[in-house]
Amino acid sequence: MHIHFKGTRGSIPTAPNASEVSEKVVSALLGARGKDLRSESQIREFVTKVLPFHQGSTFGGNTPCVRVDTGSNDWLIFDGGSGLRVLGNEIMANGLSNQTFHLFMSHFHYDHIQGIPFFTPAYIPGNKIIVHGGHDEMETFLREQMRTPYFPIDFSTFQAEISFVKHAPGDTLEVCDSTITVYKQNHPGDSYGYRVDQGEKSVVYSTDSEHPNIAHGKEYDYLDFIKGTNLLIFDAPYTHSESISTREHWGHSSNVMGVELAARGEVDTLAIFHHDPGASDQDLTDFHAHTKKFLDRSRLAVREAKPGIPGAPSPRSHPFEVIMSYDGLVLTI
Ligand SMILES: [Zn+2]
Ligand SMILES: [Zn+2]
Repeated sequence: MHIHFKGTRGSIPTAPNASEVSEKVVSALLGARGKDLRSESQIREFVTKVLPFHQGSTFGGNTPCVRVDTGSNDWLIFDGGSGLRVLGNEIMANGLSNQTFHLFMSHFHYDHIQGIPFFTPAYIPGNKIIVHGGHDEMETFLREQMRTPYFPIDFSTFQAEISFVKHAPGDTLEVCDSTITVYKQNHPGDSYGYRVDQGEKSVVYSTDSEHPNIAHGKEYDYLDFIKGTNLLIFDAPYTHSESISTREHWGHSSNVMGVELAARGEVDTLAIFHHDPGASDQDLTDFHAHTKKFLDRSRLAVREAKPGIPGAPSPRSHPFEVIMSYDGLVLTI
């Protein structure tokens, strides 16, 4: 499977301003001093391989949208944040018509639906969009956001055939040559996570979820939901201290909780997702370093605490790695 991250920012779309872009150029030029950078290929290699990611690139600012390419002719998409607009433009640029889109909604907060009115394939007759989710009134919610005075054109302007399918927590369904499992999450107004299994491979899309205290206990059923997955896309805009103080009950989780759950759920790769709109590229790079350090320390701590004692926790091997998702990232599992 190929996982295409089209939008990875939480809450509201962001864009770098003029001075932030200028700073990137300045730091790149400073980093280039004294280097042999005569040809374009040398320059490209310097930008992509030598410069730190936050100087040579950006995490991006589109709100959640992830496409999972299972090899099916139909499209499997998670959430309709502003990243969906980018995906729609790519589909149009490739001249694709008569397509079927399975759009799975975590929930209907603005940052997860605001790309839908800008998804050009929805205006093309012959396309089909099947909206999946766990909420009642999904159709009403999507119609409402395009109502006067919030939007200039009405939902009925869409020319694609649009239908809605409601699922219950624990449901499994066959879509796009894969099996999808639905999981209900703790978030204001509820949200739903989805696991995609295809053969030996799996990915879990789990955003906008605050993990309560029972997450530390053995009986937490989220661990069964994520068990052994290759990739866990995990909502973690906060540090541990933020998640238990100023931002408790906002419906999101921390990097520390992500590492803990990924370790216990034996997840291969943890992808941090739904970045804080206030975080700069430098902030997100620091957040990543801090998360990796926590992962390394937690591995050592378990190893040193009880070496070789029967029944003691075994040294942690999972997650193998923790990455920061960014707009434009493509992963293959
Ligand atoms: Zn959100
Ligand atoms: Zn939300």
